[in-house]
Amino acid sequence: MSQQTTVSAEQLRAQFGDMSLVAAMNHGREKRAYTHTFGCQQNEADTETIRGMLAEMGYQMTDSPEHADFILFNTCAVREHAEDRAFGNIGALSHLKKQRPDVIIALCGCMAQQEKNVEKIKKSYPQVSLLFGTHALWRFPSLLRRVLTGEKRVFDIGGADDIAEGLPLLRGEGPKAWLSIMYGCNNFCTYCIVPYVRGRERSRRPEEIEAELRELTREGYKDITLLGQNVNSYGKDLGLEIDFSDLLRRLNDVPGDFLLRFMTSHPKDASRKLIDTMAACSKVAKQLHLPVQSGSDAVLSRMNRRYTAGEYRELIRYAREEIPEIVLSSDIIVGFPGETEADFEETLRLTQEIEYDLLFTFLYSKRSGTPAASYEDPATSAEKQARFERLLRAQDEIVARRQAAYQGKTLRLLVDGESKNPDYPFTARTEGNLLVCVRGEDIVVGSFIEAEIEKTSLRCLYAQKR
Ligand code: SAM
Ligand code: SF4
Repeated sequence: MSQQTTVSAEQLRAQFGDMSLVAAMNHGREKRAYTHTFGCQQNEADTETIRGMLAEMGYQMTDSPEHADFILFNTCAVREHAEDRAFGNIGALSHLKKQRPDVIIALCGCMAQQEKNVEKIKKSYPQVSLLFGTHALWRFPSLLRRVLTGEKRVFDIGGADDIAEGLPLLRGEGPKAWLSIMYGCNNFCTYCIVPYVRGRERSRRPEEIEAELRELTREGYKDITLLGQNVNSYGKDLGLEIDFSDLLRRLNDVPGDFLLRFMTSHPKDASRKLIDTMAACSKVAKQLHLPVQSGSDAVLSRMNRRYTAGEYRELIRYAREEIPEIVLSSDIIVGFPGETEADFEETLRLTQEIEYDLLFTFLYSKRSGTPAASYEDPATSAEKQARFERLLRAQDEIVARRQAAYQGKTLRLLVDGESKNPDYPFTARTEGNLLVCVRGEDIVVGSFIEAEIEKTSLRCLYAQKR
């Protein structure tokens, strides 16, 4: 039996009704909207939905908040730094609100789902007239209509873990697209705020996902990333005989020349079946982001990750055996409460053994309301910083070595934009998602090309189109 609920057709009709009302109010006026997104790909995907609704309501997008009638910050609560930046950005707009009182400043996303932030905005940021949480995203047209028709401040942080299908989307330019396959998280890693601000796991129905993929391929998108906090638990709430690997196979059968990526995989649920599926599906990129977080079993256990470093290593070994060209990346948290020097050494050892192509490293950030916030944390900031820098240095050496190994190879690349380097004027991605700057004749953004790697650096490969 399916446990998930969807927003009803009637509720959605009401939103489309409000979109039409706002569009009518804006008719004949040049209304502009500016959006800024903090945080992860899920937030970027949410902003695309909001921009889609804004476009439907008659707004043109602008890159300049100074010229906007509507300004929105889609926020992230995963680390303190992202929260501080969002507050800083909103604070800096108080002068604009004084000069142009009609400008609407809005805040949404994960920060807006937390009581403490909502109180702070209510009290100290009067320039914010609209605030809505992750669960209220689909109600944005009604909330905006209320502000535009005279309500001074509209705050909506309520709502259930519902899925809303059929909302408009305004995607970015270029061949890349996000495709959300599920929302929320059930894992409750002890450091992480996500399950508290994004609710429980809920999967979109496979036919909705497939229909969106077909639409994307018709529109010419070629590099499509399936999104979820833990894609490996896709389908568990649907009551259907389908898991993530089955979904991948189904999507791989959609006609067209495109690449499918996915993120994020949780190591406790990533299986040999997943690796076998990746190996068998020609459109699934041979790239795996598998966040390990720590190489110490003691730390992993306190993080509630529910795998050991040994199990993790074994899965990586299998992946490399089945798919030798696989590009691997990971997330690591340095300085988790109670992490000792010896724990850190285990992390360092694991990264040196695995040799990731790409590593996202984070200093632990205390999030109130999570279990780890009350754990003892004896290491000093200086000690944590020193560990962090050691890890970065070690990883830089690995990346330099791995990048250098591509020298002279000919690879299939997807050209995805223009670069700022006049000698290599285009950017492209390898199937493994490595960044390449490319030169050559007749290069078209959005096309696949064959190119030879001429030189390499830490951040980028440089290639000549063949
Ligand atoms: N769901 C994904 C997973 O399980 O790996 C990732 C979601 S989280 C938004 C992205 C990364 O942020 C995590 O993998 C973790 O490394 C990092 N992160 C989450 N909470 C953090 C915290 N309190 N402090 C530092 N880094 C954190
Ligand atoms: Fe956060 Fe863990 Fe869920 Fe990822 S799996 S979103 S790190 S709780």
